[in-house]
Formats: sequence, C-alpha cells, structure tokens
Amino acid sequence: MILRVLGAAGEVTGSSYLLEVGKSRVIVDFGLHQGRHEEERNTAPLPFAPNSIDAVVLTHAHLDHTGRVPLLVKSGFRGKVFATSPTVELTQVLWKDSAHIMKEEAEWRSRKNLRKGLPPVEPLYSEDDVEQALQFLSPVSYDDIFEVAPGIKVRCRDAGHILGSANLEVWLQENGEEVKLVFSGDLGPQDTVMERNPAHIESADYVIIESTYGDRLHKTNLESRDEFRDVLLDAVRQKSKVLIPTFVVDRAQRVLYEIMLLQKEGGLDEKIPIFFDSPMGVKATKIYEKYLPLLSREIQEQIQQGNNPFSPDRLRYVSGVEESRSINDVRQAIVLAGSGMCNGGRIIHHLKHNLWDPTCHVVFVGYQAVGTLGRRLVEGETYLKMAGEEINVKAQLHTINGFSAHADRRDLLKWAGNFKNSPMFIVTHGEPKSSLALAEGIKELGYRAEVPAPGQEFRLEQGRDLAPAAVDSLGEIVHPRQIHQEDLLAEMADIIAALQEEENLLSPEMFSLLESSRTLLDVVRKSSLEEVGRTRQGVSA
Ligand code: ZN
Repeated sequence: MILRVLGAAGEVTGSSYLLEVGKSRVIVDFGLHQGRHEEERNTAPLPFAPNSIDAVVLTHAHLDHTGRVPLLVKSGFRGKVFATSPTVELTQVLWKDSAHIMKEEAEWRSRKNLRKGLPPVEPLYSEDDVEQALQFLSPVSYDDIFEVAPGIKVRCRDAGHILGSANLEVWLQENGEEVKLVFSGDLGPQDTVMERNPAHIESADYVIIESTYGDRLHKTNLESRDEFRDVLLDAVRQKSKVLIPTFVVDRAQRVLYEIMLLQKEGGLDEKIPIFFDSPMGVKATKIYEKYLPLLSREIQEQIQQGNNPFSPDRLRYVSGVEESRSINDVRQAIVLAGSGMCNGGRIIHHLKHNLWDPTCHVVFVGYQAVGTLGRRLVEGETYLKMAGEEINVKAQLHTINGFSAHADRRDLLKWAGNFKNSPMFIVTHGEPKSSLALAEGIKELGYRAEVPAPGQEFRLEQGRDLAPAAVDSLGEIVHPRQIHQEDLLAEMADIIAALQEEENLLSPEMFSLLESSRTLLDVVRKSSLEEVGRTRQGVSA
C-alpha cells in the first residue's frame, strides 16, 4: 500500500495524491498549479498512465484541488470522479469558467505570437473537454461509506471550508491488513459562520493535513464583522461607492450574508443598491441556496426567522456587459465583483473608473497573492497602469482579514488534537515555513509529523508505533492541556502585538516583561511535553 504526494508539497496549490493498493490506483484531488511556474507545471507530463487510474475522489470544488481533472479525462482517464453533491455542482461552474478563461488567454497569446511569427498557443483544456469530464462526476452523500476501487473505501465528512467540502476517511485493505488514512482537504475554522463545524475524527494511521495558515492566527469572526460594518457604515455616511473584489464561490455569499445582517439590524437603511456583478456568482449563490440545510446552525436560525441569508434587500444580479458598464453612472452603491485578487474579471473596469476618486472605498475581503493587482493596491502603490490608462489611486482602501474559510494555526492544532490514537501526520498544502511550523506544533502535541518533498512516497503500514489502547488512556489527559497552553501562548502573542500597535500603551520595560513571561510559559510547556514523552515511551515499551 503506497501513498504518493503528487502536489501541494511545500506550496498551497496543485493538490494531488496517488493511492496504490494491489492493482487499484486512486487519485485524491487533481488541482491546478497557480502562481510560480504554473504553466510548465500544469502542462508537465503526468507521472502515471491516465488510463491506469480507477477513480478520483475530490475533497472540494476549488480549482487548486479539482482544476486538472478535465486534463486527466482529455488524456484518457475513464473512471468515476467522486465528490459530495454540492461539490459536483460547484465544480461544474468552476471548470466551465476555468476553460473559458484558458480559451481567452490562449487566443490573446496566439495573437501576440502571430505578430512574432510564433505558433499559436493551445489552452490546457477546452470547453468540450470540460463537457466530457462532467460525465464522469459522481455525487455521493456525506457520511456514507462507499467503495471507489477494490480494496479502497471512502467516507466524506464535513470539513467546514466551503459548501460541499469534505475530510476524507479512506480505508485501504490488502492481504488481510487494513490501513486508515484521513485527508483533511482544506479545513474550515473551528468556529465557522456559514459552514458547519469541521468533523471530529478520532482515529487514523496517517493524517494528511493542510497547513495554509500553519504559522498564523486570524482575527476572530466578531472582530472582522465589526471592522466590515464600520467600513460600510462610514462609506454610507459619506454617500460613497463601495467596491468589494471577491471570490465568487463562498466569499461573495459571506459578504452578501453580512450585508443582509446589517440591513436587518437597521444599520443600512438607506436606499443603496447592491450589485453582484458576476454571471458565475449567480450560479454559485443558487447552489448555496439549494443546499441550505448543509450550512451552519447560524444560517438555519436565519432561515427560521424568514430571512434569505444570501439575498439582502435591493440586491441586483448583473449578467450583461452593458448592464455592468451602466453601474459607472450610479453614484452611491455597493458593488461585488470578481476576481477576488483583481487579476481579471469585472472588478477591473470598476476599479479603473473609481480608483482615482477619494470618496470611493475599496474593501478587500480575501487573501491577495504576490504579483496580483490586489496585492499592489494593498501595499500602497499610488500610480497604476490599468487597461492602457494611468490611474492615480486616491480611493480609500480597507482590508478585512478574518473572513477566511481556512483554519488558522490554532484551529488546525485543535482538529489534529482530536485523534485519540497515534497517527503519523503528513503536513502539506502550505508554504514551507507554514508546513514546518505546523509540523512542530503537531509534534508538541505528542504525535509524529513529517513535511514531505514533492513526489515523496510513503509505504503505508498499520499503526506501528504506540499501541492505540495505551495512547487512548493518555490521549484524554494529555491533549486538552497541551492545546490549552498553545491557546494561552497564542493569545499572549496577540495581546503583545495589539499593545505594541498602540504605541503609548506599552513601554519598552513592559514589553520585555510580557515577552519574558511568554518565554517562561513556553519553557514550562516544553518541559511538561518532554515529561509526557518520557511517560509515553514508558507505556509503549
Ligand atoms: Zn479550498
């Protein structure tokens, strides 16, 4: 039994794993590489024969987990692609959009090449390839166990990341031996707003865990909600236009939900229109509305009170290009449009027409990657060239950090700490710094953890280390205390950082006092861990 890490080792995109059990070969996620060297990596020869793969299982719809499946089908794969029903539907929307963008990009580059006498550029896959790939999508329900290939069974549990997202429990069987793997996929925060809380899984031989924010903490939901409201209310008082660049799956629905809440509380009572300028956004929102029962308790309460969570008053969906342009003439409005990082999509023309205006507010509600227009704006560039025009940026820019659909370090460690036996953690889906920091944190919880290299293979064996019974008896005692200490340290770091920001509040003497008490607490925590380690070795021996 073999696990091979095909992608997302030391990086956050291109998620993919290959499982081999006897003659069965199954792929978990097959995502697009995005960012560094994406083109050569997406077009590189596949490290296996596509027609030798029995099935694919998807954790969730995001393209960095699903975006190369159409390429797999184009290359000869003919098995089923299993995913939860909402993931199947969101994937259809995202694949079609992806093929459309690839086509436009290839046409643009072909025109440039033609002038240089170079050959035309082919897209990675076409809209027809996507149509073909859609035939292989096979919906499954949460919590059912199903066979994906001989010797490989899977169960999807809610991951709390986006609608349809799943942690995968995978059982491999060969020659009477069984090994259990758990793939975290992308994990949501422990304290979710729209999605249900991530599942509580207690046993595995191997856990493949994401580490996007393995070294960072997010602001709390309440803090972010307050920040977002302050910005909107301020803009309303100034009778301004508010532009919100947003990913159209999940983040846009979250923003619509926050606006709906603000309206219900009487905070946004003026007659301000809300434009959701994205044809894809309409489709994504419809899918969220179709699967409302799969969302959080908070959302269920809103529905019970008669509120439609993603439909604030005066919301207008914009599909046509002309209609989109006409928003330029509206003086006061809230405009949501993709792409979330301003590297394309309709947000571009809204920015072009409004960034010069000091009364305009731009609210960033998601991560802005290096090299994107969004990142340049957030970092304070004041002169930009956009669509052939030079723009002097005078608009008021805001960043709301806490709307993330990802677990932060504290959430990841809490989820990891649920395991009552002693799995080996394989830490992927993060920049090297984040993955290493999370692996260290997991080791401090008393587990083994490793950050794999791209292509690394693991020969899987049933829990060879500690006997589960011995660990179980310790698990109850050890884990809660360690997590509590981890929380306390993180909280102290937060407080120190916050006090530092308010310069007058913290003298250098007080700062060093706080820092040394934090270090002392950390020393106590580490020495208690060593003691636990010694006790554990004693038990297993
Ligand atoms: Zn994701």
